[in-house]
Amino acid sequence: MKLLSIKECDLFQKKVFIRCDFNVPTDEFGNITDDRRIRSALSTIKYCLDQGCPIVLASHFGRPKAGIFTPEDSLIPVARRLHQLLKTEVLFAKDVIGESATTLVKNLKSGEIVLLENLRYEAGETKNSPELSAALASFADIYINDAFGVSHRAHASVAGITEHFDDNHKAAGFLLLKEIEFFDALLERPVRPFAAIVGGSKVSGKLEALVNLLPRVDKVLIGGGMAFTFLKALGHDIGSSLVEEDLMDEALRIMDEANRLGVKFYLPVDVVAAQKFSADSAIRMTSTQEIPNGWMGLDIGNATSELYKEVLEDVKTILWNGPMGVFEMEKFAKGSNKIAHFIADLDAVTVVGGGDTADLVQRIGLDEAMSFISTGGGASLELLEGKVLPGVLPLMK
Ligand code: AMP
Repeated sequence: MKLLSIKECDLFQKKVFIRCDFNVPTDEFGNITDDRRIRSALSTIKYCLDQGCPIVLASHFGRPKAGIFTPEDSLIPVARRLHQLLKTEVLFAKDVIGESATTLVKNLKSGEIVLLENLRYEAGETKNSPELSAALASFADIYINDAFGVSHRAHASVAGITEHFDDNHKAAGFLLLKEIEFFDALLERPVRPFAAIVGGSKVSGKLEALVNLLPRVDKVLIGGGMAFTFLKALGHDIGSSLVEEDLMDEALRIMDEANRLGVKFYLPVDVVAAQKFSADSAIRMTSTQEIPNGWMGLDIGNATSELYKEVLEDVKTILWNGPMGVFEMEKFAKGSNKIAHFIADLDAVTVVGGGDTADLVQRIGLDEAMSFISTGGGASLELLEGKVLPGVLPLMK
């Protein structure tokens, strides 16, 4: 997939609008607890600074009710962090397209940066409103999308706005280019053997991705809550583990299809089972063939992690999407942690889908050891499902 690239855009001293994804986690005092998404946007911002561009930055943040200013959803902390990271002044507009934004943007000079207030204070953002798209587009000569994490949403600043720029005046920023290149290479020309480790809570969330991945991979390793729908479909006793009964037939079809395609399909052989979904629950190791009544599997067991290590030993490409257990609770994080440590040391291309899997890898300090960690959970999942993202489509050559 070839995209219009920032590198091919004539940016010199042109006013640029960069759609970023600054939707970072914060604590109860509004302090940014993980600034990865801000740091990921720096190469595009610095490149535009080097080209002498006046720069308008825009992002969403949290889920404020449109039209109501809630201070906890303000992008002020992001402006401060940007200032620290860029070591240059970052002007802050108190609104999105109101008087503050319009005045600051109008007076913006070469090498100056203004960050607009949270796009989602405007009702038109999530509705892809033509009025908001036009107002945002009027701020700049060039549009750059560097917000991979939100490119699966047809929102005004991601989709509608692109209609106001021709192909010479819009492009993907470095982060978006990198994300798309990694997933494109992964899906279209992976170095084999290629294994997909798929976990997380439910089959329903990953069904389309699994179906799209099957013809592309050599091995699938299932973990997390979604494993139990497959196990129950095979007739195993899964106790009170998470299950989607209505998807059991689909689960069987997926396993048949894997078999037909010669794809090795692995399910957990044992689990850490708990009596309740709680960090202080009693736990026991059990086989996945006979999880006792009243017990639920909340992590893969030791035999499974050893088996999965063996299965992954010879692979050259790994895609990991979804935790192996309830990693948020220490008692049920071991399976995910073991897999993370193991693949971090492998001589293979390791691609980690965004969201929870990225969090867990980062939590144990292994983010640098992976080849690539996506900044977008939902967006990367849609790429794995084979979809073209609404924010990416208008930037395709
Ligand atoms: P997803 O958003 O589908 O990738 O799911 C991630 C969530 O799945 C995490 O919050 C995990 O706590 C949860 N999860 C993983 N394993 C299990 C399990 N065995 N039972 C219930 N939830 C699980």
